Amino acid sequence: MSRKSKKPLGPNTKLMHAGRNPDAFFGLANLPVGRCSTIMYPSLEAYENPNHKFRYGRTGNPVSEAFELAMAELEGGYNAITGPSGLAAITTAVLAFVKAGDHVLFCDSIYPPTRIFCDNTLTRMGVEVEYYDPLIGKGIEKKIRRNTSLIYMESPGSATFEIQDVPAIASIAKKRGIVTMLDNSWSGGLLFRPIEHGVNIAIQSATKYVGGHSDISLGVAVADTQKNYRTLKRGALHLGTCAAPDELWLALRGLRTMPVRMKQNAQNALKVAQWLEKRPEIKRVYYPALKNDPNHKLWKRDFSGANGLIAILLKEAPKKAVSQFVNNLNLFPIGSSWGGYESLLQPQALENCRSAVPWTERGACLRLQIGLEDPEDLIADLQQAFERFNKYC
Ligand SMILES: *Cc1c(COP(=O)(O)O)cnc(C)c1O
Repeated sequence: MSRKSKKPLGPNTKLMHAGRNPDAFFGLANLPVGRCSTIMYPSLEAYENPNHKFRYGRTGNPVSEAFELAMAELEGGYNAITGPSGLAAITTAVLAFVKAGDHVLFCDSIYPPTRIFCDNTLTRMGVEVEYYDPLIGKGIEKKIRRNTSLIYMESPGSATFEIQDVPAIASIAKKRGIVTMLDNSWSGGLLFRPIEHGVNIAIQSATKYVGGHSDISLGVAVADTQKNYRTLKRGALHLGTCAAPDELWLALRGLRTMPVRMKQNAQNALKVAQWLEKRPEIKRVYYPALKNDPNHKLWKRDFSGANGLIAILLKEAPKKAVSQFVNNLNLFPIGSSWGGYESLLQPQALENCRSAVPWTERGACLRLQIGLEDPEDLIADLQQAFERFNKYC
């Protein structure tokens, strides 16, 4: 985009233009999908030119370039790699930076499949994984060893939404020459900018808010510098991970409406969360935008908004009561994932995926994704399901 004024653009304005180049495609507002494996060359000279832009579909193509640059702009980084899922972006990034004999620190509240990767693949390769309390803050310094090569964060954490003191952790890591990564899926890259707080690699499941319509599987990792980008890209090339052009194209489309969708998700979620807080059936509501949430202060300091994810801890009750509650909800189908337009519920099994801070609660923990429905309808639905819950308590 050519501009005369030098006044910096707002984040929403930037997002509407990021990765777009209508001049390159006959003026089309959105670039074509461009499915490709083969990319052809007109001459031997062109083939042998090391600066030839695209070589092969898997290693980079017009749609991957557009989405990667758009995400790098959104996250304030240098450039990005993409992969077939959020988990693939995570594993590709981690494998690109660690080696046998390293000690790595992962927050205890990470996305459970990330933990499974750590406990199996990383461990099998001779990397020592240690989990830390996500609320550790500056205390991370005491965990650092001579061979610590990576501090991995996820903020807010999965299911319980602990907000990490990212600037504190990133500055300690930087001083010690340790790479930092952060799973930024919760914020969509819009509500929190980890790279500005000193994090090296910001990773996202674009399956969630970026896609926004429960119909794609895509991951992205943005590097802060050219040097870290090169390491990341080499890792992706060696592993052979790449994202499908259709998914990338849908993610580019999703990006344009992400700010309005997330705003509405957050507005609806806050209404539902405030109503849930008053329910006698509930021991705790997890939602950092609530004033009573212990993470509220740090969230307010570092985040510009919230999303539609809430978790509730039901008071201890017979299994039958919990299943009556879940099975009688009409507007919350059971489903993994989040970030789509529709509300969902997913039961959590946190006793199996916490070790630094063991999960000791006995009530059921349920994650609710609050969609774009009318919040009054969602509340009425929850209310009638609570009546069923109470009958079996
Ligand atoms: C869903 C999720 C992922 C993994 O994303 P996929 O695209 O499903 O592989 C990673 N991190 C968090 C926090 C998630 O919720």
